[in-house]
Amino acid sequence: LTRLYGPLTALSNVRVDVMSALVSFDRVFEVLSLEPGIAEKPGAVAVPAGSGRIEFRDVRFRYPSADQVSLASLEDVSTLDRTEQEEVLTGLDFTVEPGQMVALVGPSGAGKSTTSMLVSRVYDVTGGAVLIGGVDVRDATLESLRDTVGVVTQDSHLFHETIAENLRYARPGATEEQMWEALTGARIAALVRALPDGLDTVVGERGYRFSGGEKQRLAIARLLLKQPSIVILDEATAHLDSESEAAVQRALATALRGRTALVIAHRLSTIREADQILVLEKGRIVERGRHDDLVAAGGLYASLYRTQFTEAVI
Ligand code: ADP
Ligand code: MG
Repeated sequence: LTRLYGPLTALSNVRVDVMSALVSFDRVFEVLSLEPGIAEKPGAVAVPAGSGRIEFRDVRFRYPSADQVSLASLEDVSTLDRTEQEEVLTGLDFTVEPGQMVALVGPSGAGKSTTSMLVSRVYDVTGGAVLIGGVDVRDATLESLRDTVGVVTQDSHLFHETIAENLRYARPGATEEQMWEALTGARIAALVRALPDGLDTVVGERGYRFSGGEKQRLAIARLLLKQPSIVILDEATAHLDSESEAAVQRALATALRGRTALVIAHRLSTIREADQILVLEKGRIVERGRHDDLVAAGGLYASLYRTQFTEAVI
């Protein structure tokens, strides 16, 4: 039992680790600031517009060590010596078909966030390949990757700028009308409209502070402006207030309709709906299937499910 509860009590720490990981994740899309060494190849090709298929082929990954990454002059991460680093993904094989929703579940540290970051090429794999619409993401133009893959989290980074400016990172030419439409779809228009400066309200530390649920809805508004065919969703681990929670759920239902979704899922309702659940443990997929089959199988998923239920971390 200690073995079973050990990783799960660590769940309360997940948020911090997700947050730090996702700051850089969001920035890829929003300010085009990339990890050192992630550059577009000469002759890069565009991911076909509307691509919805994600393929992981024997994907392996080691993080470069922090002191190496901080080298300011670093231009090619493929030259980094990572042999000292532990392999955090040890051969992942899976396909998300267009329009499917696949849920990633597993104990903290299993590799869920890392997996999600490889889709949009926040990092490059150290073995195997990630393909979107049949194109290896290392061969894709960065612009086509950004247009194809959208990210939603409750910790989405907001700049100390106006709401309109923050929304325009998703779609530079967006009109006010389009922004209101997206805010409406994301169930946050009423709140923005009630602010004295509306879309021109400055947000952040010294401006208007959005709650976690509100930030998540703003991230959904960005998604609705961008219209990506693939969505990476990191569900909230902390409970939002029930009103915010319901609004986020409705907004997500709109935003995910017809798109391919890879969801780091903490909510049982999401997991139950998934076309496929991938159960990760120590960098590998240990079980896969749908909820009922995995519960019946009585393995790691069944334990996670039981414990999540009793601890109400869903
Ligand atoms: P999960 O999302 O399932 O909790 P992660 O993908 O965040 O797991 O982490 C997988 C493993 O990679 C963990 O052992 C974690 O400590 C390690 N890790 C995560 N981010 C980094 C990083 N930036 N540098 C080095 N190791 C990392
Ligand atoms: Mg994580």
